[in-house]
Amino acid sequence: MYHKISADYIYPVASEPVQSGVIVTDEKGKIMEISTREKFDAVELKILNGTIVPGFINTHCHLELSHLRGKCPTGVGLIPFISHVIKNRNVAAEIISDAIATAESEMLACGIVAVGDISNTTDSFPQKQKNNLHYYTFVEYFDLFQEENSEIEFEKYNAVYEQLAETNKNKRSKVPHAPYSVSKKLFKLLSDHHAAIDSGAVTISIHNQETLPENELFQNKQGDFISFYERLNMDTKSIPHLNKSAIHYSLEFMSNNKRNLFVHNTLTTKEDIQNAKEKLKSSKLFWATCPNANLYIENRLPNYQNFIDTNADVTIGTDSLASNWQSNILEEMKTILKYQSYLDFKTVLKWATINGARALGFEDELGSIEIGKQPGLVLIENMGNGNLTNQSVAKRII
Ligand SMILES: [Zn+2]
Repeated sequence: MYHKISADYIYPVASEPVQSGVIVTDEKGKIMEISTREKFDAVELKILNGTIVPGFINTHCHLELSHLRGKCPTGVGLIPFISHVIKNRNVAAEIISDAIATAESEMLACGIVAVGDISNTTDSFPQKQKNNLHYYTFVEYFDLFQEENSEIEFEKYNAVYEQLAETNKNKRSKVPHAPYSVSKKLFKLLSDHHAAIDSGAVTISIHNQETLPENELFQNKQGDFISFYERLNMDTKSIPHLNKSAIHYSLEFMSNNKRNLFVHNTLTTKEDIQNAKEKLKSSKLFWATCPNANLYIENRLPNYQNFIDTNADVTIGTDSLASNWQSNILEEMKTILKYQSYLDFKTVLKWATINGARALGFEDELGSIEIGKQPGLVLIENMGNGNLTNQSVAKRII
């Protein structure tokens, strides 16, 4: 039984928007035809008010922190935020798994079809293996620059990585956490592992330039990260003093010929983006933005003009519920368009769909409405003049 669905507008993303368009899918939602209403008898069509777009791709999330919703104060900055997460993350297993299931069902309802998800533990793996969504799990490594522990930490997270069975809908990789938390020794263990994977079919994600002290750490070897390590009585001797911004440290170890996904990029400049492009020439580079989490934690946003001017491939993430009010890509799009209104709906929709699908290697099936794909169809209601409004809502229709 085929579905024949029409709406005021269809944004296939891979092609121009179609007014009063019709999408024909098979019973599973595979796209069979994209057309217009006059080719059909009106009675065959299911006509909806709104705009149909492909399913959204959430390229950055920490599902395993979902139970921390509302537990961390807003606007305090990244370092106090991290301390809150560390203090509050360990609770009963059942509370964690219930919160993960709830977060997943919320993501499904608001049109998310694939998630790039950070895991430090195996907590989210049982839910992921129900195959409700596509997942790219980034098992995340860090050693806080304590090189005597690098190998122990490497083995610890390898054990987490081994617990996730790979399927078509569940991919995985080993990734460094952030420049401010990974020693050269641990970075090297990871980059040697990546070098041994010869195909381009792996995504390496890393948190990048989320807060000012992160740049200060590598530019001057001073600032709040040094005080953070000193408070924890940790040695800072292996932190390199580069006289350069934080991304330069990561770039020494990020792998060519792979997909590299830089996450947050709140303070990333045009020069930083150009340097990354230069250094990682043969890799595919993606820049994930999590605007609501940036507002939640740091109360600032990236300057998206830097990404437009350098022709960078931007993707969108929600980050965790510890640092967001919801896990909803439409809400991230609204925030971007509200604060940087020189951007348009079409540009940001591309960030929310096909760019994310490419970043996670799901573009053969997801990310655009094209014949043969099964991208999930989402209806956005209450748009105005081709743009999102405060009242816009997204819901999954297939
Ligand atoms: Zn994160």
